[in-house]
Amino acid sequence: MLNISIDKSQTRIVVIGAGIGGLTAGALLARRGYSVLILDQALVPGGCASTFKRQGFTFDVGATQVAGLEPGGIHHRIFSELAIDLPEATPCDPACAVYLPGESTPINVWRDPKKWQEERQRQFPGSEPFWQLMATLFNASWEFQGRDPVLPPRNLWDLGQLIQAVRPSTFITAPFTLFTVGDALRLCGLGNDYRLRTFLDLQLKLYSQVNADETALLYAATALSVSQLPQGLFHLQGSMQVLSDRLVQALERDGGKLSMRHTVEQIKVENGKATAVVIRNQKTGEVWTQTADHIVANVTVQNLTQLLGEQATFGYKNRVEKLPQASGAFVVYLGVDASAIPLDCPPHLQFMYDANGPIGENNSLFVSVSHAGDGRAPDGKATIIASSFVDPAPWWHEDYEGLKQKYTQEAIARLNQYFYLKPETIIHQEAATPRTFARYTARDRGIVGGIGQRIPTFGPFGFANRTPINHLWLVGDSTHPGEGTAGVSYSALTVVRQIEARG
Ligand SMILES: Cc1cc2nc3c(=O)[nH]c(=O)nc-3n(C[C@H](O)[C@H](O)[C@H](O)COP(=O)(O)OP(=O)(O)OC[C@H]3O[C@@H](n4cnc5c(N)ncnc54)[C@H](O)[C@@H]3O)c2cc1C
Repeated sequence: MLNISIDKSQTRIVVIGAGIGGLTAGALLARRGYSVLILDQALVPGGCASTFKRQGFTFDVGATQVAGLEPGGIHHRIFSELAIDLPEATPCDPACAVYLPGESTPINVWRDPKKWQEERQRQFPGSEPFWQLMATLFNASWEFQGRDPVLPPRNLWDLGQLIQAVRPSTFITAPFTLFTVGDALRLCGLGNDYRLRTFLDLQLKLYSQVNADETALLYAATALSVSQLPQGLFHLQGSMQVLSDRLVQALERDGGKLSMRHTVEQIKVENGKATAVVIRNQKTGEVWTQTADHIVANVTVQNLTQLLGEQATFGYKNRVEKLPQASGAFVVYLGVDASAIPLDCPPHLQFMYDANGPIGENNSLFVSVSHAGDGRAPDGKATIIASSFVDPAPWWHEDYEGLKQKYTQEAIARLNQYFYLKPETIIHQEAATPRTFARYTARDRGIVGGIGQRIPTFGPFGFANRTPINHLWLVGDSTHPGEGTAGVSYSALTVVRQIEARG
């Protein structure tokens, strides 16, 4: 191996961004002996998985549930390598209670596979061939992903990693590589099952940005199956911030450095190799150039091309410009009296309102509710966080305050169909829009959730961690395997392995 003779402590790595992707990459690199500096423009680390506090409440900014905490799960693996404790967490059961338009009984996505099978057989009679296909594809894909393939491969080493992850069982997925979920529904004779399709559209929009007709089947097989044992979704004790805090702890213990409120304004490239970043200290206004042997960009691929400017290769820039418009998010954060919450309220719910309307734009809400003692609210109080995917464009061009007020009122009115939200039960109310996300996470136009898991952009066809510029790496939800704290942690691990392989 090349890296045997190299003194890693002399290899300087600059990570742009302290989201879960950047923190995981930085902490692992520091653990493996590299000299690491992470820069983030925000006040607190964690990006879309950070938190803020108001009037005694702690609100998760974006991510509220975590996958990959089980033994063998990606957070579990990474925390084991870093020798830090996994955050305390409670499993979400049901992972989600989904209310379809006009229905008052939810579809409960249970954690126990048997219970979930019974539920879906009752809810969607005749759909079992579809779910069995999903289970078969999930098992093969999950085992494949667990062997750390590099997707998409960009050189011989990457290809070697990909090939070593393939087993005879993996080939079962091959004929389905170009299938969407819509194709699979039709294949199983369920193309006209409107209720099943609506349920899938709703759930898939959360994970893939797009509906069943567009979502790549192989991606969906995983996204729809991780809520069941032996995997599962979890609610972290305290808040989502604990994930970032532990990664920062590991980074600093191993000699790495994190500088908040430092914005990277430019990546410098010489002879096809990334060599330095231009940094602005937001407090002092000081600007300087920091050289680096490797630069890990924990930003969206759209932001990456902006940081490169004219230095981005034509093909790369062109591909980014041609991506379909990504979604933004509208989020309402409520601090409420516990009397606003129905008894036995599950931790996560999803509602769709108008059967003929779009899935996003406040017509559906994904809701996360705190529970007593989980560290998010004082005794006798609770937090409700409701998010909806929106088109980011109007938020930059139209009457911003008016739009924000309209969306907030609509969201609260809709939530009121399930919760008891009255002036006397709402203690704190606040909303985030694409502009808010742009400001606090620096994501281009406030887009969230990655590039969408359509056929041309998922897995083998997506954006690689290895960029066309040598020693410049892309980490985060624009890359395989996509959005979520678990997804970006895989992406971080891949980059760390790629850097190590190069020495
Ligand atoms: C409303 C919402 C709900 C979600 N729910 C869930 C969920 O329940 N579970 C889940 O797993 N995922 C969820 N997600 C997705 C998940 O939060 C993200 O996919 C993931 O956190 C992204 O991590 P990241 O490391 O790729 O990037 P980010 O979180 O975007 O972090 C990037 C960091 O880089 C910094 N940065 C960017 N540009 C610069 C620059 N030029 N200079 C310096 N710093 C810079 C930013 O300040 C930021 O801290 C949700 C997302 C949203 C928006």
